[in-house]
Amino acid sequence: MSYFEDLSNYSYCCGIENSKNVGWLDVAHPFPKGKVSEDFINKLWVYLKVDLMIMRGFHVCNLCHDPHNGIFIASRNDESLKLGFAEIRVLSEDSNVVYAAPDLIYHYILDHSYKPPEEFVKAVLKGPKPGSIEYEKFLSTFDVEERQYYPPTIRRYQG
Ligand SMILES: [Zn+2]
Repeated sequence: MSYFEDLSNYSYCCGIENSKNVGWLDVAHPFPKGKVSEDFINKLWVYLKVDLMIMRGFHVCNLCHDPHNGIFIASRNDESLKLGFAEIRVLSEDSNVVYAAPDLIYHYILDHSYKPPEEFVKAVLKGPKPGSIEYEKFLSTFDVEERQYYPPTIRRYQG
């Protein structure tokens, strides 16, 4: 997994995006901790379900002491997803700023108490959601193969 400082410019893939990094954590770098609201977690989950940058890189969590640091199964409201295969994009309320995060950000927040930057939290709470016209317009700027590098079914966990 690659480390990028929060709010630095995203350059992990392709270098064509004008996005800000959030949540690219690594055990070698300290990160802010704190509480986030349940509302924030519920809204973050919606972004995780978008199939984007699938298997562009396989991300593992090296913050876990448990050497099992392969695939995480995240569950919420009767839905389950494998984490570590994809990235998410979150738009600010005015759609002018794009945030790029690994899908493992969900695990970092829930299991490692990572507190993302306030502007990212605000974007998740207030920004256009997947399914909205604005968000889908944004997604259409990605190549199909970027969006679905591998079949999205790889992420759907059948328990
Ligand atoms: Zn972990």
